[in-house]
Amino acid sequence: MNHYALPDGNVQIAFSGGRTSGYMLHQILAANGGLPERAVVTFQNTGREMPQTLDFVQEVGHRWGVRVTWLEYRATAPFFEIVNHNSADRTGAPFEALIRKRKFLPNQQARFCSTELKVRTAKRWLRSLGWDRWTNCVGIRADEPHRLNKPPPRDRWVVWTPLATAGVSRHDVAEFWRAQPFDLRLPNVRGNCWLGNCDGCFLKSEAHVAALVRDFPDRAAWWERMEALATELSNAAGMTPGRGAWFSKRYTRAELREFIARQGDWAFETEGALCQASEGDCTG
Ligand code: SF4
Repeated sequence: MNHYALPDGNVQIAFSGGRTSGYMLHQILAANGGLPERAVVTFQNTGREMPQTLDFVQEVGHRWGVRVTWLEYRATAPFFEIVNHNSADRTGAPFEALIRKRKFLPNQQARFCSTELKVRTAKRWLRSLGWDRWTNCVGIRADEPHRLNKPPPRDRWVVWTPLATAGVSRHDVAEFWRAQPFDLRLPNVRGNCWLGNCDGCFLKSEAHVAALVRDFPDRAAWWERMEALATELSNAAGMTPGRGAWFSKRYTRAELREFIARQGDWAFETEGALCQASEGDCTG
């Protein structure tokens, strides 16, 4: 049985710009001898991906001869724009536009960023192609059961997770990329690419968010600025800034930066000082 044989009908292959969905795309291309017109590959750029991720998406498309459609959220109709490696935003503008529209921040309980910036942005583009119903192929591995056992979406698509059906684990993905002539140029720490997806995503462990502050202060500053913006937007609307003005209920990004400035390397050398379970991957 070929786990990667395309199902009937239109298929959207969601490429997140990570190694796992890159591997999945490779297996699908190999199993089907390329892609028919009814199958498309999408990459939704939030503007907070590391430049290495954007380069990787470009290189995958180029080396494997597959068209990847780059999409970005827009706050006004038609609410998406097709971009490319050159024109893709690298400042967080699509994400900021969404925050300005909603006037509060996403967090672990309200992940509207992945819904809007990724899922609905792709949906809007596919609808513009005239697609009515389709299969959404998502890179969830067999060793991620917490991401697998979700109720099916009540929307226009059904979810297809060939990596899970094929029993693929993070070790298989790592082994595949070790054998390739190119790779995502971001560090892989114990199977976790902590700089993948949005750089300061609130789903990442506190240790990883803290490491961003230490290693990439300019990138971390964007997240702090968004917390200030959400506070401003709440005040302007006559509301007291509350939970919607912070990405985490445990700390503000400014507090984290100040804590790190005071504590120096202690926070990084002491195991568990800032750690919590990481769920880091954005399924959009
Ligand atoms: S990576 Fe995190 S911050 Fe970015 S869209 Fe996904 S959930 Fe939101």
